[in-house]
Amino acid sequence: MSDTIEILSSVVADQIAAGEVIERPASIVKELVENSLDAGAQKIEVEVQAGGTEGIVVRDDGAGMTRTDAERACLRHATSKLREIFELDGIASFGFRGEALASISAVSQTTIASRRPADAEGTRVRVVQGEVAEIVPAGLPPGTCIEVTDLFASVPARRKFLRKAATELSHISDWLQRAALAHPEVAFSLKNGAREVFRHPAVRHADERLRQVQGAARAAEMIACVGEEAGVRVRGWVSRAGTSYAQSKAILTFVGGRVVRDRLLTRAILDAYRALLPQGRYPAVVLFIDVAAGMVDVNVHPTKIEVRFADGDAIYSSVLHTLRRTLDDAIQAPAPSRPGKETGASDSDRRVRAALARYAERPSTRAEKVYRVRESAAPDTLAARAPAVGAGRAASAAAADRGASSRTGQEAMPFAEPAAAGSRPRFADLRIIGQALNGYIVCEGADGLVLIDQHAAHERVRFERLRLAATETIASQQLLVPAVVELDEGALVTLEAHGAELVRAGFEVEGFGAGRVMLRALPATLDVSTDAEVLLADLARDLAQAGAAGGDERIRAARDTLLARIACHGAVRVGDPLLPAEMQRLLADLDTIPFAATCPHGRPLMAELPRSEIERRVRR
Ligand code: ADP
Ligand code: MG
Repeated sequence: MSDTIEILSSVVADQIAAGEVIERPASIVKELVENSLDAGAQKIEVEVQAGGTEGIVVRDDGAGMTRTDAERACLRHATSKLREIFELDGIASFGFRGEALASISAVSQTTIASRRPADAEGTRVRVVQGEVAEIVPAGLPPGTCIEVTDLFASVPARRKFLRKAATELSHISDWLQRAALAHPEVAFSLKNGAREVFRHPAVRHADERLRQVQGAARAAEMIACVGEEAGVRVRGWVSRAGTSYAQSKAILTFVGGRVVRDRLLTRAILDAYRALLPQGRYPAVVLFIDVAAGMVDVNVHPTKIEVRFADGDAIYSSVLHTLRRTLDDAIQAPAPSRPGKETGASDSDRRVRAALARYAERPSTRAEKVYRVRESAAPDTLAARAPAVGAGRAASAAAADRGASSRTGQEAMPFAEPAAAGSRPRFADLRIIGQALNGYIVCEGADGLVLIDQHAAHERVRFERLRLAATETIASQQLLVPAVVELDEGALVTLEAHGAELVRAGFEVEGFGAGRVMLRALPATLDVSTDAEVLLADLARDLAQAGAAGGDERIRAARDTLLARIACHGAVRVGDPLLPAEMQRLLADLDTIPFAATCPHGRPLMAELPRSEIERRVRR
């Protein structure tokens, strides 16, 4: 019997390895540009043909290579960046595996032209399928220019995986823009054929680079954030709670200056924005995370786009808290009209600390520990606002009190705690002037007028309470006469897929199929006269959108979606008249919830009209 194990030729081995590092043209651009950055380049020019599928050139003005180095650069494990394995711990360069050029040259025709500034002439090396085909001296400008053509010519199976030139170009452009964000001091440009895609001259400040990359308008909408906790430094920019995007593409994370995609980071970011954005919408975030070398392992993925953190919790909370604080500061409640109540620095410190304490734990676990009372035990007073049920309102308020007293200790009163703990300006301190335009509560604040959207505000209060209670099944009420609801096929499929969540939210829906369902029970917080048809159609639409989130986030997103919709349907509407006491109550309720500035569907719930603005308008 003949032996069947063979040692792969080094070229075949490199071609296989190339599959890991070199997925597509953008991977080549990434590796070449990182080499240029490692070489200390001030200027990096990328030129591609047909989105990189026909050719890639990366030119830099960095340190360059000697003739010998240029010849060796394409050998596997040829690297100038790592002499000893123990150096791996504190690695500062992008490359260190000595794999990229070997992999690239194994699946293409690669030409390296390089000259060190100190040398009189440079070297040009042509490598075909991993073998040096030609090496000649050449007159060259200082720096390195690497040209890659005939990509995957020897690996037709991989070539088939290449997408349209436009798609590949957008991958290249996306990656290069991110690299540019991390290195404002380096000039970057990208050309596709004769067309210039972008050109960013070197700048001194990171925010100038943000403007170059995102455009002035979008950059102006973002708020700078910075924070540090447990040795994890976080800095960057985040979009305001009122702005959102259809895709998560605008969330860019960097660890130690590397573009990194990490589920933990993404989750911390999305958790910070939870309920501040409409369902299925995403923030724009550019975030640089810096941790001590040794706290992060960048060598877990061949292209180093994934990392492993030694202390994931520290990363999660540092990111979450920094973003929460930034967003909280950006959407402060208005200043109170009560005189003499100064908000000094120490006050704001205390407020920040209170906010941190509130979010020290993940929302769900916090709710589990602190709040075991069902939503039905703490009904919100406005739900029973019709004059005819005035007595019922008193009764439910009493029930709420009972609920409160039956809980133990002060931590069992999450609604009262935030307002008591911090001294952030309180909505309840505003002087109510009255209801206007059938939907706004007009108030006087310290230095101007504050208009509060009654529907958005009430929806927000209801949502936060539902959310705190939602680790348990929400109490439901049986309908005397079940409602038969006609729905289209898509809506039926979506609702059926979320059956378990619907039950937990207090719904009882039966008989999916044949274009209709039977609604037997509603969450107790909803009025029995709720239009079931509209509600279910709305829910299906929201859930279908939230479903796009994918992964672990899905269940939580679906739950928030449901709660937001329930909150919305039970909230006072524009046009509902409110009694003064009801307005006062709503303001007081707003003080009990965090992040009061948007409704769960992401609309702002108030507008301020400062005195200065009023005076400007009347030209005082
Ligand atoms: P790594 O970056 O992991 O060291 P590469 O295969 O990407 O491995 O590169 C191999 C070596 O080639 C590098 O260590 C470096 O010495 C040299 N090199 C590659 N690109 C450049 C460049 N643009 N400027 C200077 N030296 C380079
Ligand atoms: Mg490299």
